[in-house]
Amino acid sequence: MTTSAPSPSVSFADLGLSQPTLNALQNVQFEKPSPIQAAFIPLAMSGVDCIGQAHTGTGKTAAFVLPLLERLDFDNRAVQALVLAPTRELSEQIATECKRLSYSSMCRSVCIVGGRPIRSQINELEKGVQVAIGTPGRVIDLIERGCLRLDQLQVVILDEADRMLDIGFRPDIEKILRRCPTERQTMLLSATLPEPVERLANRYMKSPQKVDCSTNGIAVKTVEQYYLTVDEDRKMETLAKLLLDQRPQQVLVFLRTKRGADRLHARFARKLPDVAILHGDLPQTHRDKVMKAFRAGEVRMLIATDVVGRGIDISGISHIINYDVPEYCDDYVHRVGRTGRLSSDEKGYAFTFVTRDQGEQLTNIELRIDTMLPEYRIPAYESARPKEKRAEWTGGFSNSPNM
Ligand code: AMP
Repeated sequence: MTTSAPSPSVSFADLGLSQPTLNALQNVQFEKPSPIQAAFIPLAMSGVDCIGQAHTGTGKTAAFVLPLLERLDFDNRAVQALVLAPTRELSEQIATECKRLSYSSMCRSVCIVGGRPIRSQINELEKGVQVAIGTPGRVIDLIERGCLRLDQLQVVILDEADRMLDIGFRPDIEKILRRCPTERQTMLLSATLPEPVERLANRYMKSPQKVDCSTNGIAVKTVEQYYLTVDEDRKMETLAKLLLDQRPQQVLVFLRTKRGADRLHARFARKLPDVAILHGDLPQTHRDKVMKAFRAGEVRMLIATDVVGRGIDISGISHIINYDVPEYCDDYVHRVGRTGRLSSDEKGYAFTFVTRDQGEQLTNIELRIDTMLPEYRIPAYESARPKEKRAEWTGGFSNSPNM
């Protein structure tokens, strides 16, 4: 069953949240639930398995964290909830949101991700935590070492479920789910619901109920989206022109490949001081430093690949530039969800570079978002050469008097 979002006039108190949670919400100055929160929280609190379709930036973290906090027994220090996310950055963001929202309820949580010392994560688990949040690889490692015990688990949450299956986490996730008690609540959050996610949902969830806020999500509504026709060999130059034309407050530039991102970074970092790069081959310490500087506004232009760029919640991002058309049109939705965020009043802008032979990919994106993207032209600049006229046939048979 799919439920649509209830009226936005609903308050947090109407959702049946407890007083300590309402106090925490007041403390973080969340005044009203977002559509996904208003629809998902009551369903999740009823204890059924549920799927929430929503983009990052629409308040989906709180949508699952709040019901999760409501069902924990704080006198028990066994792990009662497990949240799985595809990237370290996203896991850490969830852990931070969990801490903020459990302010008055003294919830103990640990973030278990690779690239961080395992010892301190083990120490936290030994001291006792109610919520474990992390990426599949490190979670499995800690389960296998006997440090993460799931026998008292009540809730499992898969965030960005579509991406977890995309990047080959599927066997890991299935392995973890098999270790969880069968009597549990499973929640799944995803911006999109492609076939493999639905199949997994049906295999590991009991009659899941669905809430779809993916098309009316605030994130997409407040973003002005355009495409630019660009010649492949003019992309770098076009990017420079577009930056001059737009003068973004903060910009996230997406590329398909790490090598492409490296090349672009090398070119721009030479000329601009506040440019940084983020992709999966870079060491965690570098990734942390970059994220911190980007959040602080010290980095104004971040060049990233999809895997690392998604899920990043930074309210200052004013512009998204898809330097390469995303490989899958669902990635477009994820990338563009990085701007026009819930916590920001500012409008966001998204520009997608499309070469002449990528018309079909542009159409697929437009079908996916159910919107025609207008073309943007940078004043006094041609990002693509005029279409070459078909070369005229001057010699040969047609001129032959014998034909
Ligand atoms: P998320 O979609 O979970 O990444 O959330 C995006 C941002 O919106 C985060 O900075 C949240 O702290 C913030 N946020 C979530 N829910 C609300 C709300 N109801 N009111 C105001 N801000 C919110």
